[in-house]
Amino acid sequence: MKIIVAKTAGFCMGVRRAVDMVLDASNLSGEPIFTYGPLIHNPQVLEMLENKNISRIDTIPERGEGIVLIRAHGVPPEDEKALNKAGFTVLNATCPRVVRVQVIINRYAKKGYATIIIGDKKHPEVVGLLGYARGNGYTITSMEQLADLPAFENAVVVAQTTQNTVFYEQIKAWFTQHAPHYKVFDTICGSTEKRQSEVRQLARENDAVIVVGGKSSGNTRRLAQVAMETGTLAIHIEDAAEIDYKLLGSAKRIAITAGASTPNWIINDTCVQVASKVKKQRFFLGYLVGFRDFLLKTNLLLALGAGGLTYACARVQGFSLVFVHSAIAMLYVLSMQILNNIITIKSDTYNHPERAVFYRKHQSLLKVLALGSGAAGLYFAYTTGFVSFCILLIMSLLGLFYNLNLPFVFGDKKITRIKDVPGSKTILIAIAWGIVTSLLPAIVNSCGFLPMLVTFAFSTGLVFARTAFFDVLAIQGDRITGKETLPILLGAQKSYLLIQYVLTIEIFIILLADWMDLFGSTVFLLAFVPLFMLLLIRLYKRDSLLSSRQYEFLIESSFLFAGLVAAVI
Ligand code: SF4
Repeated sequence: MKIIVAKTAGFCMGVRRAVDMVLDASNLSGEPIFTYGPLIHNPQVLEMLENKNISRIDTIPERGEGIVLIRAHGVPPEDEKALNKAGFTVLNATCPRVVRVQVIINRYAKKGYATIIIGDKKHPEVVGLLGYARGNGYTITSMEQLADLPAFENAVVVAQTTQNTVFYEQIKAWFTQHAPHYKVFDTICGSTEKRQSEVRQLARENDAVIVVGGKSSGNTRRLAQVAMETGTLAIHIEDAAEIDYKLLGSAKRIAITAGASTPNWIINDTCVQVASKVKKQRFFLGYLVGFRDFLLKTNLLLALGAGGLTYACARVQGFSLVFVHSAIAMLYVLSMQILNNIITIKSDTYNHPERAVFYRKHQSLLKVLALGSGAAGLYFAYTTGFVSFCILLIMSLLGLFYNLNLPFVFGDKKITRIKDVPGSKTILIAIAWGIVTSLLPAIVNSCGFLPMLVTFAFSTGLVFARTAFFDVLAIQGDRITGKETLPILLGAQKSYLLIQYVLTIEIFIILLADWMDLFGSTVFLLAFVPLFMLLLIRLYKRDSLLSSRQYEFLIESSFLFAGLVAAVI
């Protein structure tokens, strides 16, 4: 069985913007935060907001205080005025594409035009749009209702942004024939159009389609309906537990898509659950996939990668004790990473649900493994010299303190933990890896300054790119749990750019080192490592066919790749 995930699955721009706005307000402001109506039609997101003390108001009180967020659907203008009048600070998260429709209606309503909206009159977006029609608005949900419309002197026709594109084409054709003087606007959101045409295509190419999203979400229901209309089996679920695998029967190819209000963690969880069913059905491949997931969840692959990177840095410089240094790096990274995963179970619940379950289930064992490998790493460091033991000990303690409450002031912000310093995680992890994979061996081997600097930059840059990339993937869960990662600070697009710049600089550093003959004539081969990561990240951005788990595996493997390349140099 093959699983294909739709490129368009998940939050659309407007929903992501609204969710980010309310989470940022909650993380940064001490005031009570409310949403006016449910932020989006997704039960898991609503539950998450409740857990963050973001309450919901459905009616506007006479007096109120705090911040009220207007959701992506928008509201009638009088509601926004009433919220301001009641004393709330209004945060307007109306999607810019909905604002465009509001502006069209308002502009023509001022001139006396009637407004015809193709959409459900009870849908919040349509309620908001009708508010701009100055009492002269009409809604239509079927072709039959068109004949009942009065004949207007002038009218504008718009569609609810998530309306079915095929249906709206029929509506437009009807008006062209019966009321050609009406002004008809294309207002269906591009994101909805893309999502619907992709699901149509996926339904044709696959044996079954799973549509993930709230049952009360109009756009998700419509997505399921579009898939069903093709005649392919389509099931609409709110979470993976609802999947009836008997229904999927002998389906060989299953496509998974999701509505605009479905968060990534529900989509990821669905993919993982379906994949684990597939795994059980495919004996040999199932074991391979299970082994890959085990290496990722336990961080063993990452630890092996730290060993590989250390080997690469030490070997190009001709150091002694190469394998001991590799073992120190492996044990240190394994220890720190497991401890970090235990501490961040909450955000993993959103970013890597299956890893969170694994860490909850085996917490005691994993703690023993983390402390044991930390202690073993210190022992090996001691065998290489007292200085490297002290450095590793300080780094291990800093790693532990990273998550502890140590109140201090950073700029005008009171910080309670080092990890709350914006962007600190990505940079500190990269520096820690740089020290353990290149500086420690260099100190023990009394290496020259320039080679040490180059290997440190090589190692730090690669780890920075890897960590920042995973932080971009985890941006949704991190925002929910209030983590201040680099992508939250810079935004996903700027972070991608930064990662690509860093990897390009890495390539130049290696080529420069080769040109300067710092490490021998074949060191240029190491440039393939940042190049490999760069290509992977660019492929990911272009929504290639690999799953995010496959990307994770390949990116984590690139440090091992560095070790292999160094072995042949
Ligand atoms: S579906 Fe389109 S119009 Fe609606 S919120 Fe999302 S981006 Fe905005």
